[in-house]
Amino acid sequence: MVYTGRFAPSPTGLLHAGSLVAALASWLDARAHGGQWVVRIEDVDTPRCIEGADQALLRQLAICGLLPDGPVIWQSQRQLAYGLALQKLIDQGWVYPCGCSRKDIENAQPQTPLLARHALAVYPGTCRAGLNGKPARAWRLNVQAVQAALQLPELTTWHDRRLGPQQQKVAVDVGDFVLRRADGLWAYQLAVVVDDAAQNISHVVRGEDLADNTPRQIILQKALGLSTPTYLHTPLVLGSNGEKLSKQNGATPLDLSDPLAALNAAAQALGLPAQSGDIATALAVWTRAWPQALALPAYNP
Ligand code: GLU
Repeated sequence: MVYTGRFAPSPTGLLHAGSLVAALASWLDARAHGGQWVVRIEDVDTPRCIEGADQALLRQLAICGLLPDGPVIWQSQRQLAYGLALQKLIDQGWVYPCGCSRKDIENAQPQTPLLARHALAVYPGTCRAGLNGKPARAWRLNVQAVQAALQLPELTTWHDRRLGPQQQKVAVDVGDFVLRRADGLWAYQLAVVVDDAAQNISHVVRGEDLADNTPRQIILQKALGLSTPTYLHTPLVLGSNGEKLSKQNGATPLDLSDPLAALNAAAQALGLPAQSGDIATALAVWTRAWPQALALPAYNP
């Protein structure tokens, strides 16, 4: 099997101790499998992107010895591909326009649970049967229609290489999710699925905070007739308040004057021993140690 892995940062800031863990893990996994490693700049949510952060991220990766094997792609240049994917789903009748505001969704089901990561209410399916005179705002995937047409079970199950067996009822726990947002921007779920396929990504290695997106992405892959990569979600680095490290709780950009120190901290979060000396040697040692690092099962190509 051909292995292609990726690191897909959003240029909303620079690399910090948390994001370097995902970058290093994805690079090591690719190297340990003799595979390719590519970088994709996920600048689809333009209002949150910081000008110049993309180039700065790429420089930070290069200083850490993490050099992509193929061309870097920018999601902001992939509008056409996302449009074609949405059209394919429209043609199947598997998406519908939604006229609900966030308030409408919250008011429709005041008791509805919030999705932990995004604090979004489960979408109750209000516009599935029609807009009812409201102007169209976003496009949503009709999860039940896809599952019925493709004979997929209500419970989506998958295996995470670190977290083990996972499951979610997307229609119940998330609802029909957005593919194109009310502001016209493409949603992360659609962009990531289209681009993982376009870049032939066989193995996704990313932070554990993204794990709950996986079942939505699997359903979307099936709806678009794309294959599903293997998933491994890496441990999160926690900030001073015990939450995932972010700019809000103390994540500072990596100190580029001492890249080995930054890499050692990331390696430690992955259960790898600290190294002294040069970066190339450290990366080579960690590549050899990687199969034992997270007690991952043996790799069988
Ligand atoms: N762009 C996402 C982030 O920086 C990562 C997406 C992914 O790896 O699937 O959080």
